[in-house]
Amino acid sequence: MSLASILLAAAVTVPAGVATHADGRAPIESLYRASLSLVDRGWTAEVIAESAPSGSAAPLPIIALTSPGRGPAVWILTGVHGEEPAGPNAVAASIEDLARLGAARPVVLLPLLNPQGYARNWRYLNVATYSQDVDGQSVGDSSHLLPSVDDAARARAAAASSPEAAAVTAWILARQADYPAAVSVNLHEDNLIDEGYVYSQGVRGAQDPLASSAVGVLRAHGVPIRMSGTTRFDEPIEGGIVGPVTDSSVDELMSAREVVVDGRVLPGPRADTVLVLETPAAALPLAQRVAAQAALLGLIAKELAAPAGGR
Ligand SMILES: [Zn+2]
Repeated sequence: MSLASILLAAAVTVPAGVATHADGRAPIESLYRASLSLVDRGWTAEVIAESAPSGSAAPLPIIALTSPGRGPAVWILTGVHGEEPAGPNAVAASIEDLARLGAARPVVLLPLLNPQGYARNWRYLNVATYSQDVDGQSVGDSSHLLPSVDDAARARAAAASSPEAAAVTAWILARQADYPAAVSVNLHEDNLIDEGYVYSQGVRGAQDPLASSAVGVLRAHGVPIRMSGTTRFDEPIEGGIVGPVTDSSVDELMSAREVVVDGRVLPGPRADTVLVLETPAAALPLAQRVAAQAALLGLIAKELAAPAGGR
């Protein structure tokens, strides 16, 4: 281990009293350790925020890793919803692939965006599950930066819904100068569906070839995909793919042509490809969900590292 990674590992030592939910997911310490091993490959690690929502045992860092080279980048995001362990576990299992990709082109990795949620099996910062009565604070909430549907010169919300969302979204926008998002992939899952789908939110929309590659690799790994019909939010599905939606998520931020920062309209990240995986969680064992999402990361690493990829 390099000096830098030792220092950073010390900074993210998980305090006593933070347990990890016992469903077979990797201990949270091992997730931090896996991502921070990229520092030994020349990547830079940063702490975006110390997350300490009300009721949490002790603060946990939200970390980011950036590969050595700068330029149009592949962004990998996981762990927005704490009760969806497959993505963070798949990233930890795919460090070699991500290291290889990062040697070929710029990569930004946000490996565990809601560490408190992961530790507590809570979807949001403030509540464990979705409910109609309480506004769940999502780490990825971007409503304070996305243009209002009625008035594009104003943001949808006056302020960020949490300090974590403020810090994460500000960090994402700040890094666009050196690591402009060309491709963004956000690994989610959903325990209320038996067949998954892939949102394709980028400028390329539902026709993005990488979205159909993603559908193919998930199916090849035994993940049932709903190929037509609608999502549980009534959005139309074609070929397992859902086109751009307005949901105030960090993925909508990644695809945004314009953003509103402190009342000023500025160019948004405008990523060509923005994929959001929703793999079904209820009927599939965690190990299989992790393997399928890791296979997707492997495919992305292979396709996007190749010079002929044209991205
Ligand atoms: Zn989710």
